Amino acid sequence: MENERKTLDDRAKMTELERIRHSAAHVMATAILRLWPEAQFAAGPPVENGFYYDVDLPHRISPEDFEKIEAEMKKEIKANNVFERIVVTREQAIADAQSGRLGGLAERPGNVSKFKIGNLEAIPAGEEITYYRNGDFLDLCAGPHVMRTGNIGAFKLTNVAAAYYKGDEKGPQLQRIYGTAFKNKTAMDEYFKMLEEAKRRDHRKIGAEMGLFAIDTEFVGPGMPLWLPKGTVLVEELEKLAKETEFAAGYVRVRTPHLAKEKMYLTSGHLPILYKDSMFPPMTLLEEQSRERNEQLTRRKFAIMDALLKFKSEGATANPEQVRALEQEAFDIALQQDVLGERYYLKAMNCPHHHRIFAAEPRSYRDLPLRLAEYGTCYRYEQSGELFGLMRVRSLNMNDAHIYCTEDQFAAEFNAVNDMYLKYFKIFGIEKYVMRFSTHDPSRLTGENAKFVNEPALWKKTEDLVRQVLIDSKIPFVEVPNEAAFYGPKIDVQVWSVIGREFTLATNQVDFAVPAKFGLTYRDKDNSNKTPLCIHRAPLGTHERFIGFLIEHYAGNFPLWLAPDQVRVITLNDDEALINYAKPIVAELRANMVRVDADFSATPFKAKIADAEKTRVHTMLVIGGRDMEAGAVSVRLHHGGQQGAKPKAEVVADILAGIKERRA
Ligand SMILES: [Zn+2]
Ligand SMILES: [Zn+2]
Repeated sequence: MENERKTLDDRAKMTELERIRHSAAHVMATAILRLWPEAQFAAGPPVENGFYYDVDLPHRISPEDFEKIEAEMKKEIKANNVFERIVVTREQAIADAQSGRLGGLAERPGNVSKFKIGNLEAIPAGEEITYYRNGDFLDLCAGPHVMRTGNIGAFKLTNVAAAYYKGDEKGPQLQRIYGTAFKNKTAMDEYFKMLEEAKRRDHRKIGAEMGLFAIDTEFVGPGMPLWLPKGTVLVEELEKLAKETEFAAGYVRVRTPHLAKEKMYLTSGHLPILYKDSMFPPMTLLEEQSRERNEQLTRRKFAIMDALLKFKSEGATANPEQVRALEQEAFDIALQQDVLGERYYLKAMNCPHHHRIFAAEPRSYRDLPLRLAEYGTCYRYEQSGELFGLMRVRSLNMNDAHIYCTEDQFAAEFNAVNDMYLKYFKIFGIEKYVMRFSTHDPSRLTGENAKFVNEPALWKKTEDLVRQVLIDSKIPFVEVPNEAAFYGPKIDVQVWSVIGREFTLATNQVDFAVPAKFGLTYRDKDNSNKTPLCIHRAPLGTHERFIGFLIEHYAGNFPLWLAPDQVRVITLNDDEALINYAKPIVAELRANMVRVDADFSATPFKAKIADAEKTRVHTMLVIGGRDMEAGAVSVRLHHGGQQGAKPKAEVVADILAGIKERRA
């Protein structure tokens, strides 16, 4: 279910681009009405990368209609009509909806603005009701808009899809027409160029070409990628990087099972409600000591069912009291069997397991900060329609760690985590990033709508601390209220790939609630027991999403240290002397853990190079007669062309250094 109704606060924060796009939605509705005056409109918000408007119309709008809708839109933009804001009473609004005027160019007797009535009802009592008008088009809308239709610099309709009114599948089906708009044509052209490039770099396409991963829906299941050998290289190189970086930063590594008892998640608060929909359903395990009792109960249950059936066939002669007693007994048996079996869940997050590791030994202030790291495998239930390549999956490997610290240590620890992010961004050439700092909403600490643990003082304190660290470290950030985790403020890291596509990769969260729920304590200097704070952090996110990002970021042309195929040694032909000269080079690289292979075949040289380029081999070492005589090799880089001949030893040393330094 989508939340289409933005609060007034959200609306006030609409960016200029969002205003342009939302205004374009009104202009599109104006155009559609000129072509089909009977059209009824529902919601028309700006969305990521554009806007849409939901319309109910007997004519099925198809992309063939876009041209004539766009032509009408151009007229409305050329007219440069003012977006006029009009305040009305609720009675007036209802009357205008009844007459078909709302979301129309004129009154439409007998054609009630039915969706606008629904939208009106969603406006809380006491909130101002406003219209926006451009030319003849009058719409119920809280705004904001640009000043005039002429402020829409460039636009394009992109897509049409089915949608339901207010996202309710039982409601009427509507046509959702998507478009995008920009301040000017240059900005729009850039956007479409970026989309083209993103399509070319699609991680699913390149993943298949390079043999990185497979999704076996039939035997393994949707959303559970299998890492093929070349994809596993990427996974292991990232883990190596994380292990080295975390080791240097004073982390220790742990390993935990993929399952835990229900009690774990009841304690953490993920169950019974908060996280239930994101977890796989439980499996019930009967330990051997419970099995005999369980069988007795099952036999008795069948006997009861038989007896009840017999009573039923005897009809009127059955003793109702006996029937009731048997039914009660069957119910009791079900309850008993429920208790006999232990429910286990696949873990959807690693934190509770790490909390139990903290609890496994007595802790003192001297042990803090304790930084527990694990590339943990988690399972999350995502709806099948939401699954998308490596970006949305059901099994994931997370670059996870939990830092247990005192309040005094918090700022330094949080800072160190941010530094780690920056270090990674540098390695991967991520130049544009922003941190989304999600805070709580004080009105949702208690009551029916409660979303956050009710610790107002701790919320204030940790949010202030996090904000200060962000300001001090000069990392660009935006603050987003009401989106924190239930146990504390959260930071999502958004990064942009080289072609300017945005990804949310990693999170960083403060937790001041769950350690207490698990009864975690450390003995402080004064011998009192205190509860530690916990920082959850995952700078490299999950392998799935991060590698999906990297594939698109690099277009599959990974830097040497990461490339699944690092080096190929290629002889000019299959001359034995050349092969004998090349073999020790292959052996030396292999002995140094370089992923190297050889092509000594008689295949024409050009074809050998073409094959290496197609495979995206990072470095090709080409050997001909002249190279051999000079004790050299000719270096050729994927997409980089000839680098010329260099002494053999120098080339090998350079490759080893490039890998070790993780050169870009
Ligand atoms: Zn509007
Ligand atoms: Zn965690």
